[in-house]
Amino acid sequence: MPPSKGTGDSPAGSYDAIVVGAGVAGLYALRRLRDTLGLKVKVLEAGDGVGGTWYWNRYPGCRCDVESLEYSFSFDDALQQEWSWPERYGNQPEILDYVNHVADRFDLRRDIQFNTRVTAARYDRAGGRWRLDTAGGESFSAPICIMATGNLSVPRVPEFKGLESFQGRWYHTGMWPQGGVDFTGLRVAVIGTGSSGVQSIPIIARQAKQLTVFQRTANFILPAQNGPMDRARETRHKAEYTERRRAAYDTPFGIAGYPPPTRSALDVPAAERNAIYERKWAEGGSISFLYSFTDLLTNQAANDTASEFVRDKIRAIVKDPATAELLCPNDHPIGTKRLVLDTGYFETYNRANVTLVNARTAPIQEITPTGLRTTEAEYAFDAIVFATGFDAMTGALKEIDLRGADGLTLAEEWRDGPHTMLGIMCAGFPNLFMITGPGSPGVKSQMILSCEQHVDWIVGCLRHMRAHDIATVEPTRAAQEAWTRHVGDIAQMTLYPKANSWYMGANIPGKPRVFMPYVGGVDRYKRNCDEIAAAGYPGFVMTPRAEPMPRPLVAAAGND
Ligand code: FAD
Ligand code: NAP
Repeated sequence: MPPSKGTGDSPAGSYDAIVVGAGVAGLYALRRLRDTLGLKVKVLEAGDGVGGTWYWNRYPGCRCDVESLEYSFSFDDALQQEWSWPERYGNQPEILDYVNHVADRFDLRRDIQFNTRVTAARYDRAGGRWRLDTAGGESFSAPICIMATGNLSVPRVPEFKGLESFQGRWYHTGMWPQGGVDFTGLRVAVIGTGSSGVQSIPIIARQAKQLTVFQRTANFILPAQNGPMDRARETRHKAEYTERRRAAYDTPFGIAGYPPPTRSALDVPAAERNAIYERKWAEGGSISFLYSFTDLLTNQAANDTASEFVRDKIRAIVKDPATAELLCPNDHPIGTKRLVLDTGYFETYNRANVTLVNARTAPIQEITPTGLRTTEAEYAFDAIVFATGFDAMTGALKEIDLRGADGLTLAEEWRDGPHTMLGIMCAGFPNLFMITGPGSPGVKSQMILSCEQHVDWIVGCLRHMRAHDIATVEPTRAAQEAWTRHVGDIAQMTLYPKANSWYMGANIPGKPRVFMPYVGGVDRYKRNCDEIAAAGYPGFVMTPRAEPMPRPLVAAAGND
């Protein structure tokens, strides 16, 4: 296992570790493996720049829905003290600038190869190495492989008949042109009303001559209440940064500063309950709202009180009663799909140039040369925007021909849904690590925190292996199945499985309906990970190296 440091005389394409993906997870993995462990690392990235999500999703209005004082790296105090965010929530260009700054500041770029899509990864047990092949015909090998390929990195355009015949321009929010798009004077369709649709629709509406939104499922949407950064608050926050970052690990969503609720929604008189929801609505943000009461995600009757509050807000904002009713979500409990934060979304439907079409009762049948046809009508458009989401959580991993020690692909292993240990490793795939894979709480948290936590745990595991002359690590099948069952059992104790969400794979026809994220909370999850490490990795098989490794030739540098 991890030799001390690349000696420089290894064959071309041969490394101590390969990381796939240069989003926040891949960058942090590179930083730690190279600068803390002293490994020779290569990062392979399909795009021509760093940033992952923030590199690809350049659609108008794209911004994070976690406050930027939280949604940022914690590993370097000087970085977090020096960086200043202009607004409460960073927008896509700002976050991309920030990630580029991090790449330069920590000299990460020199170990990243861009424009390199990994198409296959195969484990050779005899040689003890992963061999990765790329779309460009190159090969790379290393004993350790880290898949930092993202949960929301495979955009999905529904398989509508006739798309190739469309004579206008079409776009997907998750692969937006780098130069941007000007919709001025155009007749535009937006298909999809998840977070990406909700962020882009108000801005497209201001440009377009006519905007038609095709909504299949109405979503619960809360106001972001974005605005300029409160500098006094920023100063206070920065003074407490170290403690706040630590405290975040003791919370379910990985964000400190929200006092946990203590009462059931049903134990509070209606007037008081509504006053609490009003206050949270005015504050903005989803965690604050979900933290109104203890049981919003576990008790349907409690949840109904919050759901109805939001529906009443929609009815109050949207002037046309029929449109307002169509915008009212009624097929899932609030919070069981990712809550969407908006800026002026519902108000957009009061504009004369915006129309909402019910794509549930009149599904889109086909794209035509001049627009699209639903079961009820035909529409003419100059441009179509697909805000139709991603093959989430498993998509990027399944796209790679990823074969473990026995030659089975991950896609075959996961035919009935993903099986993982902690969302980090899979039985039969030695030394292959995932960052925030299915079975991790990653997507239910402030994701940069989860990426850092996963990488730190992996670094601890690699150190343990180095200290004990261990060549490979992989989970036992028994431990993996126990964890996978536990992930499902916890989900069943909540209302989450009631929604047809991407957490359930429900947005992809034919995908197994399995609730994939761990919803027991970042706090419990991290404790569990730490206990496993402290106990010497029970549930994992560690295979000793045939020949003991020489002690480190070069002292590992960098932070811990
Ligand atoms: P990604 O950023 O997805 O990076 C993965 C990288 O791997 C990509 O660059 C991709 O090109 C590369 N890759 C994938 N497959 C291959 C391959 N086969 N070969 C080579 N390269 C490959 N999370 C939050 O916590 N808060 C938010 O507010 C928030 N907002 C979001 C907004 C949008 C529009 C989206 C889509 C997601 C958002 N998320 C948010 C989730 C976001 O994905 C994570 O916060 C975080 O950026 C994930 O980083 P990552 O490095 O794990 O993955
Ligand atoms: P999404 O939440 O999966 O939404 C996709 C939308 O497209 C849904 O409204 C879906 O309807 C619709 N759709 C899909 N196929 C359709 C079809 N054939 N006909 C009509 N409508 C169709 O995707 P997303 O909005 O890109 O967001 C994905 C995730 O990325 C979010 O949940 C969030 O985690 C992250 N994100 C975050 C932010 C942020 O605010 N920071 C912004 C963007 C994305 P159904 O609901 O009926 O399937």
